[in-house]
Amino acid sequence: MLYVVATPIGNLEDISARALRILSEVELIAAEDTRHTLGLLTHFGIKKPLVSYYEHNKLSRGPELLTKLEAGADIALVSDAGLPGICDPGYELIKSCVDAGIEVTVVPGPCACVTALVLSGLPTDGFVFEGFIGTDNKRRRAFFERLRKEPRTTVCYEAPHRILKTLAELEKLFADAGEPDRRVAILRELTKTHEEALRGTATELIARFETEPPRGEFVLCIAGADDTAGTAPGGPADEAVARAFYEELIARGAAPKAALKDTMEKYGLTRNDAYRIVKVTGGHS
Ligand code: SAM
Repeated sequence: MLYVVATPIGNLEDISARALRILSEVELIAAEDTRHTLGLLTHFGIKKPLVSYYEHNKLSRGPELLTKLEAGADIALVSDAGLPGICDPGYELIKSCVDAGIEVTVVPGPCACVTALVLSGLPTDGFVFEGFIGTDNKRRRAFFERLRKEPRTTVCYEAPHRILKTLAELEKLFADAGEPDRRVAILRELTKTHEEALRGTATELIARFETEPPRGEFVLCIAGADDTAGTAPGGPADEAVARAFYEELIARGAAPKAALKDTMEKYGLTRNDAYRIVKVTGGHS
């Protein structure tokens, strides 16, 4: 069986009792960086054979691990931090096991993406994980294009030396889209001594990093397009968003009175404004 084992993203106390038991029981641990994992195992007094499984040997090492698993070995897969498979090696091995009918289980635990999302204070009812934004210009353009209209919270990993560039691109994107107040949260050094949650507009966060250069590990969370457009109604675009929200509620079967009340609350509208906006389409009766 393959055990996909989450390990701490900073604070060693976040290792689970089950993770420690599984790591002590398996025959072999496949690790992204064996030296890094050796440090973790030593800290917890666990002695186990380690093999490396990382980006540049996963194609050759994967089949070797698969052969062992097929022969009945129990192997744990760990990455440098967090949940293997989320932006680090793991997916291919998991898929190969699934395809080969080998049993796989996950020992859940810390994951920077979900930890950051929760701490961001942005809506969590639906979110998009974009992984690393990366450096490729074409990919970055496509990412910002998706972001312009994305109504859900977007979560992505970003390197500290690129965070200012990314914030500047966000600032421009939101200004062009008429949403300069769209919220951004930067979650830094999660679970570590210097954990920090910075929340504000792209412009406010840029100002912050101009006085103190970005250091450490970062997750970027970006509010959905709908979120701020709705909180500051003022123009025809905002009214269209509020109307669309109301119509969506009606389409889902809400009573007009209840839908009107929800629209007023979500967009901070007075009753008269809400009536006027939804009546444009004859939506409220
Ligand atoms: N598998 C990991 C997980 O479950 O979150 C992610 C691995 S990915 C290679 C590493 C990236 O995750 C970092 O560049 C950073 O963006 C984010 N990250 C990892 N640990 C973090 C932490 N303690 N605080 C903030 N971001 C973190």
